[in-house]
Amino acid sequence: MTENIKEILNKDFFSKEDLITLLSCEDGESRKIFELAAATKKKYVGKKVYFRGLIEYSNYCSKNCLYCGIRAGNSRYVRYQMTDEEVLEAAIYAYQNRFASIVIQSGERNDKKFISEIERLLIEIHQLSDGKLHITLSLGEQSEDTYRRWIAAGAQRYLLRIEVSDPELYTKLHPNDRHHNYYDRLEALKTLRKIGYQVGTGVMIGLPFQTIDNLADDLIFFRDFDVDMVGMGPYIEHEDTPLFQYKDTLLPLNERFRLSLKMVAILRIMMKDINIAATTAMQTIDPQGREKAMMVGANVIMPNLTPVKYRQNYLLYENKPCLDEEAEECKSCLEVRIAMAGDEIGYGEWGDSRHFENRNEGKGE
Ligand code: SAH
Ligand code: SF4
Repeated sequence: MTENIKEILNKDFFSKEDLITLLSCEDGESRKIFELAAATKKKYVGKKVYFRGLIEYSNYCSKNCLYCGIRAGNSRYVRYQMTDEEVLEAAIYAYQNRFASIVIQSGERNDKKFISEIERLLIEIHQLSDGKLHITLSLGEQSEDTYRRWIAAGAQRYLLRIEVSDPELYTKLHPNDRHHNYYDRLEALKTLRKIGYQVGTGVMIGLPFQTIDNLADDLIFFRDFDVDMVGMGPYIEHEDTPLFQYKDTLLPLNERFRLSLKMVAILRIMMKDINIAATTAMQTIDPQGREKAMMVGANVIMPNLTPVKYRQNYLLYENKPCLDEEAEECKSCLEVRIAMAGDEIGYGEWGDSRHFENRNEGKGE
């Protein structure tokens, strides 16, 4: 078996069977995967980790994904939307602290008011930073026209997780209506690519009904789509959601974490020059989860810049960490953690996906 893992890791291209073998191997053998992933990261993207200051703009959501704590059907949370001043203050903080990039994320809304508000904020952020702050949006599925307006207003990147790459599994995790359609989400990803965004996607790991076979397909999906960035992490159940009823069928949290770490490492080996996030969900299970992800390939981290008063209402899943940590504390904490992982922070650098740059030579920044 050990020999087998070694042989697979020597290949330039992993088949689905290879991926299943890698994902299923014992802890002792995963060490080899982790070592190769760390070396690959060092060689192709270096030891720098880039900050994306996270602004959780609003928890209003018109959708009802069966796993998510802020789904429209959950009445437990007070709904909020940050004021323009609060968003701009967070952007200024990021700019002054040389984060170089921010992410604006929220529940999904497609109304005209929301679309214009985002557009206006993008223009203002662009102005206040003289175009030096790069902006990632994570605002769900929108029309081509909306994506075009937002890129014209100053956004560069878009994060839209496919959530699971298997259309059949997708229907088990979402209501079966026209608002939750796998093929629409896939189409949205293609539109983002066509328009010129750096495109990020991702999946949750350890979901009800999900198999190792599904996860191997997810990795193949990232490769086939030729993504620029990936953010993925463990699924963490939330008691106010319909999927909570399956909690006893899930892998234990520590196994979901190990599997997520393996997914990150294998992906780094497969897609050497993309950006991979060390996600907050990893830290939710293991206090050092993000450092561990960085050590096996992740090179992007998202310090939370959302005002503390809103954080307990943006709980996509339970036990989300750092609910009372202001931006400054979060930054200091990350500095220590990143140094512990043996990496350094790319202050003042956009840290754009090298994969995107390589694909668009001459066109990308
Ligand atoms: N509304 C936007 C962005 C916010 S949700 C969208 O859906 O694209 C951001 C991500 O949170 C989702 O893509 C999903 O992968 C993740 N998420 C939601 N519920 C989760 C849970 N219970 N466990 C782990 N991740 C979850
Ligand atoms: Fe809304 Fe995104 Fe949560 Fe789905 S995952 S319910 S779209 S916030």
